[in-house]
Amino acid sequence: MDKVLRHLGEMKLELGPVSPGKGNWQHGTDANGILWLALNKDGTGTNTISQDVIRDLSDLIEQAEADPPKALVIRSAKQGGFAAGADIGSFDAMSDGDAADLLGQGHAVLDRIAALSCPTICVVHGAALGAGFELALACDIRISVEGASFGFPEVKLGLHPGLGGTFRLPALIDPHEALTLMLTGKTAYTARAKSLGIADAVVEERHVAAVVNAAATGQIKERESGGVTAGVLLLKPARSLAAGKMRRETARQAPQQHYPAPYALIDIWEAHGDDAEAMQKAEITSFAALLKTETSQNLRRVFFLRQTLKDAAKGDDGVAHVHVVGAGAMGGGIAAWAALKGKTVTLGDISAEALAKAVAQAESICKASHLSGIETRDTLDRIMPDLKGYGIARADLVIEAAPEKPELKEQIYTDLGRRMKTGAVLATNTSSLQLKQLVGSVKHPRRFAGLHFFNPVARMELVEVVAHEATDAKVVQRLASFCRAIGKLPVKVTDYPGFLVNRALTPYLMEAMVLMSEGIDKEVIDAAAIRFGMPMGPVALADQVGLDICLRTAENLKDTLDKPMADISEALREKVEKGETGKKAGQGFYDWWNGAPHPDTDDTGPEDMTDRLILPMLDACVECLRMGIAHDADQVDGAMIFATGFAPFRGGPMHYARTRGTKDICARLTGFAATYGARFEPDEGWSTL
Ligand code: NAD
Repeated sequence: MDKVLRHLGEMKLELGPVSPGKGNWQHGTDANGILWLALNKDGTGTNTISQDVIRDLSDLIEQAEADPPKALVIRSAKQGGFAAGADIGSFDAMSDGDAADLLGQGHAVLDRIAALSCPTICVVHGAALGAGFELALACDIRISVEGASFGFPEVKLGLHPGLGGTFRLPALIDPHEALTLMLTGKTAYTARAKSLGIADAVVEERHVAAVVNAAATGQIKERESGGVTAGVLLLKPARSLAAGKMRRETARQAPQQHYPAPYALIDIWEAHGDDAEAMQKAEITSFAALLKTETSQNLRRVFFLRQTLKDAAKGDDGVAHVHVVGAGAMGGGIAAWAALKGKTVTLGDISAEALAKAVAQAESICKASHLSGIETRDTLDRIMPDLKGYGIARADLVIEAAPEKPELKEQIYTDLGRRMKTGAVLATNTSSLQLKQLVGSVKHPRRFAGLHFFNPVARMELVEVVAHEATDAKVVQRLASFCRAIGKLPVKVTDYPGFLVNRALTPYLMEAMVLMSEGIDKEVIDAAAIRFGMPMGPVALADQVGLDICLRTAENLKDTLDKPMADISEALREKVEKGETGKKAGQGFYDWWNGAPHPDTDDTGPEDMTDRLILPMLDACVECLRMGIAHDADQVDGAMIFATGFAPFRGGPMHYARTRGTKDICARLTGFAATYGARFEPDEGWSTL
């Protein structure tokens, strides 16, 4: 029995068997007359707030209305957390039907909880997100178990909160903070949730019952309102002023034409922020309208692409111990991340200094991941610096992340071949070499593959799992499962110059260099890409990736692909020769000493510039599909979104191509080929897309 259920069990609640019609909730009254409702959504490990959960809750609330308990507690009976939000799978059907009507039914149940005459207490462990958070907000008091978190990720789906969050949170805490949480989709972890006033108490799990009793007997008071700021913001002129500022700040991150949801939220708050009832009505209407937008549909598609990549990686990875060779930027990151996710890690390098740096970096990664002191200690305990490589003989998986020099990698593989245990898998993190160039020095080619992590490892979700001709399919699946086990998104690809992501990204980066050589400012180029929806422009991205890495990848593609590539720009070579390799050197095309560049210009450049940048990337994706490098168009879309941030609201490059029209794109590419050269010639794969 898990920790949470055990705790409920110890309180001797009669939690089961679950009565018919209330399949998602366990319920019972304790010796103090407190009614406990424990959400345990049927058939899944993670609670979501679906229609049937709300319907069952409605029945239980009806009983509490008829026979009020001393207090009512809502919590989760699942170890994993409180609730992950609404059931996103139902949004498509909702947007086709009468969404406002369904939302109204949900609101009615939460309003009835808010109106109950007894104290209502929500106990949250793990995450309370979206509709889960809104359920918590309908209660008088929120008790946060250490490690709990609260957030509204709806903006990431092109939506805003739809079950009362837009008016309940600003009524509870400083409305500014409330709006910021909703507009950014960021999560408030325990300490912040307490300081903001979302959580009324923070306790260890073992003290939950005592604190619930205290709340039931009035020893923990319901929070009054969001303080002075809330009072001021009841006045329309003050709200308008604040709303204007929020719009400007939002525009920097998410332009309105691509991301309407945050603006819709600001609008309804500005108009109705002093009237909860009007706000509730406006929230329902606005949410129902947003559900139908192309942006929301595409962002929901992205949500499911993530799910598909995870689902394809089910199964046991058989990896308890990982040995990483090379403790540099990538190896250090991979080791830290694998340890953070519970793997035993040995980390080898020829430099003790590199190992020390990697351990320090691991500590920063723990901090950035909001790990507690104990969790950080446990993570660091799982990483063993291993100058002599003793871990090699014990590891189930060895990941090589040594410098990008084929002869060095070959030397390392020869040594590993003598030391690795029987059945262990060897994976390389190479980004620009093909596996077929390296496999000659590998002892067991069937158990050799690529695990191409992106930089920085802790933040980038995607990993390309690369199979060469002889890689055993079972090994590929194990590596994909390993990625899933450490919380990454694996996409299976086959050995090809640049694999999938760098193959597709390089023409985009190189075309930006060509445009610069034609005299167009880098800021104009980058601003155009950002307007299209990329998280940063290609020139800034090249700087971030490292100009030396870009140059090497471009040279490699130029030498190995049948297709013509853009000539490698002299400016790029010069930069690399001067050591101005981008962000890591502080200087590339941009000066990075004062932080990341924010190209801000109204100059939109030549009419065809954006297409010259984006379409070659799409064309390379089509080539990869035709060549079978990636399995299907969804995998390509997922890979490009999660590795490069390709305009998520467009649903991925292949989805964008289909929406825009493949004939239109081919014609455009053919026109470019006539004007700018054969590198734009459309791939033959377009005809069968
Ligand atoms: P890095 O130079 O930061 O680190 C390499 C580390 O390997 C150094 O600490 C070095 O001391 C160590 N090393 C050298 N020889 C060794 C040996 N014989 N045995 C053990 N360790 C040795 O390099 P990096 O950027 O981390 O790249 C490593 C690999 O990852 C390369 O194949 C690279 O192409 C790939 N990669 C890099 C990036 C990136 O953006 N940096 C992204 C994806 C993949």
